[in-house]
Amino acid sequence: VSWSEPILHVDMDAFFVEVERLERPDLAGRPVVVGGPGPRGVVASAGYEARRLGIHSAMPMSSALRRCPDLVVIPPRHDVYRAVSIRIFEVFRSFTPLVEGLSLDEAFLDVSGLQRHHPSSVEVARRVKASIRDETGLAASVGVASTKFVAKLASESAKPDGLVLVRREEVASFLHPLPVSALWGVGEATRAGLARLGVETVGDLAALPEPALARAVGPTLARHLQELAAGIDPRPVVPDAEARSVSIEETFDVDVDSDDRLRIVLRGQADRVAVRLRSAGITGATVVLKVRYPDFTTVTRSSTPGRRIASGMDVYRAAVALLERLDRQGRAIRLLGIGVSGLEPADRPRQLALDGRDRWHDLERSVDEVRARYGGATVIPARLAGSPNDPPGPSDSG
Ligand SMILES: [Mg+2]
Repeated sequence: VSWSEPILHVDMDAFFVEVERLERPDLAGRPVVVGGPGPRGVVASAGYEARRLGIHSAMPMSSALRRCPDLVVIPPRHDVYRAVSIRIFEVFRSFTPLVEGLSLDEAFLDVSGLQRHHPSSVEVARRVKASIRDETGLAASVGVASTKFVAKLASESAKPDGLVLVRREEVASFLHPLPVSALWGVGEATRAGLARLGVETVGDLAALPEPALARAVGPTLARHLQELAAGIDPRPVVPDAEARSVSIEETFDVDVDSDDRLRIVLRGQADRVAVRLRSAGITGATVVLKVRYPDFTTVTRSSTPGRRIASGMDVYRAAVALLERLDRQGRAIRLLGIGVSGLEPADRPRQLALDGRDRWHDLERSVDEVRARYGGATVIPARLAGSPNDPPGPSDSG
């Protein structure tokens, strides 16, 4: 059990139906669908009892009712599902900001940054499942794999309420028995074309020489499909807009115009942002400074230093340079904030390097550990422990 399978695909089981059941204990054990009840209605979500009767989503409601006259049909309440979805995504983001939502109830998570906090990616998956259960009362299925594509198929095979790990070395044996339509990019036309070549399963496709496949589906799709059949899928988890940055801001009780005071605030904010980056095992590319003036005009300035941003000192240096370049024309500041974007998982455990940046990173990491053990206020940068009138010096790279 290790970290070579860091991608999770989390998918809620029969999401709309199970959300309805939370408020309707009378529905326990009964076949239930959510969908439009009218003559043109379509099943939007089918509970497991209904699925056992052959009812599935996208089926016309009239066919579903023909199969099961006792079917309970609930009109969709999208506002309610959206509210539950927000709580589920909050659970995901409490583990990592590298969350890519696919729909209200489904997301990829890249948990490779959590190696310092959990024994394995499977253990993270278990905790994500348990947290969703605690938070919402609902069951999720989770696939754990080295790629997005395999993780998604793994969660499918985990349903309902399961967790499936597909180890890197088991990818071929997991994929080969599946029908070719399991491969992303195989629609009905492609499936029919492949069937004419005698290709029914992913294994059949993997065994087909690439020129033969290329004649059937064209060279681009042929290469793509053979890579997928071999478990190759380089697509990274691309975080959603809300998760693309880690940021902190503060509105002052009294507008601030002292540069020294602003630097002290920035230093504290930079440290808090860096703690959040480190606890998710990620680094950033860009530092964003946000300033709001007393007349509520707001400006943001950003800087991309060209190397990964990991420590509070990295964040602080970039932010303070942005603040100094800002043409304030003597105006006081009402709100000050820092964000870090361009997030990516930090690389494999860092080598202890001797340049200043890595030493800061390591030092701050140990500070995080002390904080975690003894509470927030135990260790703060010496500069903040002093009087607010002590300006931060320019040379603190250590
Ligand atoms: Mg689902």
